Amino acid sequence: MTQVRAAVPPMRIAALTVYVTAIPVVIKRRHGSGDVEGSVRNAIVKIETDAGITGWGDAAPWSVFTGTVEACAAALDVYLRPILIGADPSRIGQLLVDADHAVVGHPEAKAAMEMALFDIVGQAAGLPVAELLGGRCRDSIPLSFSVADPDFDRDMDMVKRLYGEGLRLFKMKTGFAGHAADIKRMERFRKELPADAELRIDYNQGMEAHDAIRQLRDVEAFRPTFIEQPVPGHQRAALAEITRALDTPVLADESVFTPTDALQVAAGRMADLVSIKIMKHGGMMAGRRVSAICEAAGIACYGGDMFETGIAHLAGTHMIAATPNISLGCEFYQATYFLERDLLAEPFPAVDGKVVVPRTPGLGIAVDEDRVRHYAVETRS
Ligand code: MG
Repeated sequence: MTQVRAAVPPMRIAALTVYVTAIPVVIKRRHGSGDVEGSVRNAIVKIETDAGITGWGDAAPWSVFTGTVEACAAALDVYLRPILIGADPSRIGQLLVDADHAVVGHPEAKAAMEMALFDIVGQAAGLPVAELLGGRCRDSIPLSFSVADPDFDRDMDMVKRLYGEGLRLFKMKTGFAGHAADIKRMERFRKELPADAELRIDYNQGMEAHDAIRQLRDVEAFRPTFIEQPVPGHQRAALAEITRALDTPVLADESVFTPTDALQVAAGRMADLVSIKIMKHGGMMAGRRVSAICEAAGIACYGGDMFETGIAHLAGTHMIAATPNISLGCEFYQATYFLERDLLAEPFPAVDGKVVVPRTPGLGIAVDEDRVRHYAVETRS
């Protein structure tokens, strides 16, 4: 009789630690919905198994968008811990169903939990997470940098430096300083950058619906690839009207959190494109469900993110690598260009303006635990 050897050894989750980190940032970020400066606070989760394999996750909330770090840490520590301790980490789909029954919402906490579980199973199986998700359709992902510094001169210096490093995608954050100032910034961008620098525009809900179409017609003259979330997320009728009125594709971000949101936006053709973010959908598999609904309506997707460390960037990278419809690049620049120091033991793999999809098991790069402890302001174990 042939001996069948299990690829993944039986394991149980033995311990869970939540570190709330505060990592200083090196540039300021201004958006239609709020500003970020000083430091970013994340809930970093470490899940240990009785097989000696450890997985890491990163919950990166933003209080004006998805939620708060305090709620994330409590969700992981108080509500998700009981379903995880003693569980088989390879039953990821079932554990996510259990997580939804244990605590409503908190998509960032569930994303962190899911990436730590995939990290464990990938290491145990000797496979990168992209392969666990169905296999990669791309080995690298074009990287977008967000032009969001209130000091536009400093921003333009950064943009030119990154163009020199091979970056071609630039997303200008608009809607916080008035229409005239936005147009001036677009003029300078187009004048000072070569024609192959792609300009994308993101209002982060910063426009008022009654004046949006007239102003966006001015913006279209600068040939943006897309215009992201001009109006507040819940104003779907206005979003649909803008999408119909403009030649430029309109991308929905804050309007699409859940698969149900995606179904409504797709069925009503309320946007041409959708931003996928593991932090708003609640993980890689949830992001792929949203993308699949969009795909059925001919809506291509973009790899968005929040103020993440390299840990969550890696999860997003594996998800995009395994999802053909997320075809508009990614914005995983924070680990390299925004944080004082990332939490990964090696630099996040961004080379020549592209993110390189790891070929090593699990998330693919180890976490520097000493650095996590250095930036921790609270530890819950
Ligand atoms: Mg956005």
